[in-house]
Amino acid sequence: MNYENLSESSGIQVITPESKGYDDARAVYNAMIDKRPAAIASCQSEADVINAVNFARENDIEISIRSGGHNGAGLAMVDDGLVIDLSKMKGIEIDATAKTAQIQSGCLLKEVDAATHEHGLALPSGIIGSTGIGGLTLGGGMGYLSRKGGLTIDNLLECKVVLATGEMVTANKDCNPDLFWALRGGGGNFGVVTSFKFNLLEVKNVYAGPMFWPIEKAKEAIQFYDGLTKNASNDLYGFFAFLMVPPAAPFPEHLWNHKVCGVVWNYTGPIEEAEKVFAPIREFGPPILDFVGEISMPALNSMFDALYPPGLQWYWRGHYFKELTDEAIDVNIEFGKEIPNFHTTSHLYPIDGAVHDVPNKDTAWANRDARWSQVFVGVSPEPENAQQITNWCKSFYEALTPYAMGGAYVNFMMEEGEAKVKASYKDNYDRLVSIKSKYDPHNFFHINQNIRPK
Ligand SMILES: Cc1cc2nc3c(=O)[nH]c(=O)nc-3n(C[C@H](O)[C@H](O)[C@H](O)COP(=O)(O)OP(=O)(O)OC[C@H]3O[C@@H](n4cnc5c(N)ncnc54)[C@H](O)[C@@H]3O)c2cc1C
Repeated sequence: MNYENLSESSGIQVITPESKGYDDARAVYNAMIDKRPAAIASCQSEADVINAVNFARENDIEISIRSGGHNGAGLAMVDDGLVIDLSKMKGIEIDATAKTAQIQSGCLLKEVDAATHEHGLALPSGIIGSTGIGGLTLGGGMGYLSRKGGLTIDNLLECKVVLATGEMVTANKDCNPDLFWALRGGGGNFGVVTSFKFNLLEVKNVYAGPMFWPIEKAKEAIQFYDGLTKNASNDLYGFFAFLMVPPAAPFPEHLWNHKVCGVVWNYTGPIEEAEKVFAPIREFGPPILDFVGEISMPALNSMFDALYPPGLQWYWRGHYFKELTDEAIDVNIEFGKEIPNFHTTSHLYPIDGAVHDVPNKDTAWANRDARWSQVFVGVSPEPENAQQITNWCKSFYEALTPYAMGGAYVNFMMEEGEAKVKASYKDNYDRLVSIKSKYDPHNFFHINQNIRPK
């Protein structure tokens, strides 16, 4: 295939294996992924995206879509095909009066946070700043503001989408409402989203940070946390984690490399009430580390960025849970004690509060009857540890499978097959298949957690 034609006819910068910068352009966040595309179309505008889609369709070329490149399974890249790379499309416009943001798909969460924070506003999104807004939003989007403001998709007002035909359409509640429904959780199955319009929340500074307990106290800690958050206001969020304390400042040296459990809290209520809210929490244990205090929302959202730079080995899996049974807690503790290094961890993200205010059938994301989304994350800088972290992750996942709801958050999945995708969309799957058949009948967009057309 002569990719010069694409470049010459449309002016898009096309990177091929012969180009300088090819290896940087094909690198994604997870260093376990080593795909070699035939070309990468570095799009700068909607017109570039339309030209790239048309070129690929007319020449029968497989495509993938890249926004932030964070997908664990490396679905932003395709061997021997064309990557539609949106990472240079970084426009952000904030309407502070309407409290909305128009955000192009190449933006990273830290860029969105910085722009909204200037106006005392925030978008519910994820917990690592280098994640792309594109993939995170289309899969659902969960993070520190989920209990207060719902998933990222619950704040989505509109998308601009390039369909497989090359047609550019708008999707919102009035215009192509079926497509808008499917885009809220259905991933990259329906088209290339070039920009998103979101509602923003009034959140500037919060009372937040990590609090750890010794792993020997894990059972009591997780039960205490479960009971407390079940009855808490939506202003109190905390994800439970098993981890090994990183051997570096600001962590106290006597805790370095110790296995612990803990919660990373985020309280969005009035700051002057925060100490009162945390008094009973601090009485439990007591904690062996307490870094909870007033902090800006962008600082919280990027607190762990330095620990997780791009280029590490990653393998992960996810489960949903309705409740944390005694048996499930015991499995968590067993694997928590076997965490192989200080990058590897497991997080239990609460997805109740405002997430439960939206019925399951209102968006493609179909797991609002779950209280937790758990992720098992094997990470290491060393390629020779790839098998070890993969094994830990898979064994942990499998040991918890009997207690889980089936399916998983599509953004925490590797390439796990059609049955798993189907289980993740539950009762919404058939409607997704119909909408896929209408907008992408030939499955042009299939490098994703694929929903096959009829
Ligand atoms: C370190 C880390 C932290 C994370 N934390 C969170 C978290 O806190 N909360 C959370 O919800 N998720 C989190 N995730 C998961 C994250 O949501 C997914 O990895 C998501 O795929 C990342 O989006 P991206 O744009 O960076 O991905 P990419 O790898 O660029 O894209 C992934 C896939 O998404 C689709 N896609 C992306 N952009 C578009 C677009 N513009 N149009 C159409 N389809 C598109 C495509 O199918 C593509 O293959 C995290 C991931 C990592 C690695």
